[in-house]
Parts: sequence; C-alpha cells; structure tokens
Amino acid sequence: MEKTLFFIKPDAVERNLIGEVIRKVENSGFKINNLKMVRLRKAQAEEFYKIHKGKDFFEKLVEYVCAGLIVAMVLEKESAIKDLRELVGATDPAFAKKGSIRYDFGLDVTRNSCHASDSSKTAKDEILFFFPEKD
Ligand code: UDP
Ligand code: MG
Repeated sequence: MEKTLFFIKPDAVERNLIGEVIRKVENSGFKINNLKMVRLRKAQAEEFYKIHKGKDFFEKLVEYVCAGLIVAMVLEKESAIKDLRELVGATDPAFAKKGSIRYDFGLDVTRNSCHASDSSKTAKDEILFFFPEKD
C-alpha cells in the first residue's frame, strides 16, 4: 500500500478543525499509519520547504508554518499520493475544487489548511522528516 505525508497547518489547528479534516481524510479511504502534533522550529521549516527557497513567498511560508502547532501523519491507501493531492485541492483555496479540504477550510494561498506530498520521492523524504524513527 502506498504511503504519503500529510499535515494539518496552524490555521486549521487554531480553528479547531483537526477532527473535521481527519474525518474527510478517513472518509476518503485513507488509513492513518502514524500521527504526531508538533511545532516546527524555523530551521526545520526551512529544511522542509527548501525547494521553495528564494521564492517570494518563502519567508512568509516559513514564519506561518512555525507560528503554531501542526498535526503530521502518514496516510496509507492505494494511489495515496495522487488521491491525497486531489482531496487537498489547489494551493490557492480560491481555485480549489468543491469538496476538497482547501475549498472547505483554506483561508488564502498561504493559510491553506494542509500539506500533502507531491511525488513518491517527496513522500519518502517527508515521512522520514517527521517520523525518522519508523520506515
Ligand atoms: N505558498 C504561498 N504562496 C504562494 C504559493 C505557495 O504562501 O504563492 C505556500 C502555501 O502554504 C503552499 C506552500 O507554500 O501550500 C508550498 O507551496 P507549493 O507550491 O508546494 O503548494 P502545495 O504543494 O502545498 O499545494
Ligand atoms: Mg508542494
């Protein structure tokens, strides 16, 4: 079964939406394989988002994602990576499909409620980033 990395971002955690987001994930056929609540330090967020280093939104993104608690989880399903990206929706909630997590809960292009790995390579790296103790 394919695994992917998902996390609920500070905007959704602050608005008490953890349960709502997890309900959508579970209702969409994903199994939660591992889960933890963490607060990223600046250096960790910079490392996690290093592919975006140098882009105009990088500083804002790092500051935002460190501003509160996040809930990270490993999700398991057939075609988990592709299906989770679909469930999460477009980066900018204004363009996210009806029924997607970002359509329902996202506030703006930065505070878009969640993260999902975008390929098998990033899924592997991102799972290890949050859960180095387990393969
Ligand atoms: N982001 C932003 N401004 C932008 C594009 C992205 O603040 O113009 C933030 C947003 O929180 C997004 C994250 O940076 O989720 C990573 O960007 P990416 O393009 O990888 O989007 P994602 O894969 O999360 O849809
Ligand atoms: Mg991305």
